[in-house]
Amino acid sequence: MYYILKREDLRPWLEAINREYTLFVPRTRDGFGPYEGELYLEGKTRLSAKEFFLPWREPLLVYEARPGALPKVVEGPAEQRVVFGVRPCDARGVILIEKVFSPDPFWQKRREATSLIGLVCEEPGTECFCWAMGVNPFSGEGLDLVLVPHEEVYLVKVITEAGKKLLSLSRAAEGGEEAFLSREKEFKAKFPVSPALEKLREKDLMTIYEAPFWEELALPCLNCGACTFLCPTCYCFDVQDEVVGSEGVRVRLPEACMFELYSRHASGHNPRRSPMARFRNRFMHKFKYFLDEYGEPLCVGCGRCNEECPANINLWDVVRAMSEV
Ligand code: SF4
Ligand code: SF4
Repeated sequence: MYYILKREDLRPWLEAINREYTLFVPRTRDGFGPYEGELYLEGKTRLSAKEFFLPWREPLLVYEARPGALPKVVEGPAEQRVVFGVRPCDARGVILIEKVFSPDPFWQKRREATSLIGLVCEEPGTECFCWAMGVNPFSGEGLDLVLVPHEEVYLVKVITEAGKKLLSLSRAAEGGEEAFLSREKEFKAKFPVSPALEKLREKDLMTIYEAPFWEELALPCLNCGACTFLCPTCYCFDVQDEVVGSEGVRVRLPEACMFELYSRHASGHNPRRSPMARFRNRFMHKFKYFLDEYGEPLCVGCGRCNEECPANINLWDVVRAMSEV
């Protein structure tokens, strides 16, 4: 079902949602927050929507720090949350991460408690290559509703019953299918197929594991982890115990495979001691190991790593090197 929502009716709709649910929106270029009037619609945010499912600090257990005390599992968020303005590449990122996290009860609870309203970009960003990674932003995959900016309106596609219920709080009127499909066609034409990615899919990547280009491409890398924390598909985490006095809490925190400590064993041995080994692992995980395990590469083409890397490392230089050697 397709609908048309006037741009001037967006805020009244968000306010109506906010009265019934806990609403989060992109507030600034940096990321999302509770809806309090601020709204950033100019493009994707630096931090993706993955933080709603893998938060920056997630308590798992609480316990009394004394022998024999039994831990208590922490209940996840119970209230229904709505996240507006999720870019379709980020929603696809959630689906990819879910392939790993679906058995996790903390993840499940967050997924059940969260509705996602997607927003397609007005124009693809200069570093975006979602379509080349098999992401059709107009499909609504992983979303409850998807909005497409078009002239003075948003064209809306309803994906789920939950989405339909949310849209009923707005002044949207039925219609707009033709314009929606023509915007989809127009958008797709802006993303040429990448021969390098095509080649990569067919290649036995273990043959390039020891290739000399890894050292050269990894040289400028600072191992700062920005690319991994900002990536909507990276999901490395650590579990730590925080104990203050007799109160203990076990928390899950995001981590980065770019950090030396991440792969260091308790014995002190580290299979990825060198910065090059960690750099190589990031790309091999995205384009080889995850693909082997789940049948899809672990990248949605959002372009954040290219935009934010302080050393100007570009994913395409690595993909081209991987496909050409
Ligand atoms: S953001 Fe750039 S410099 Fe930092 S770890 Fe990633 S590739 Fe290396
Ligand atoms: S690897 Fe880069 S382009 Fe791909 S999803 Fe992660 S941040 Fe986006």
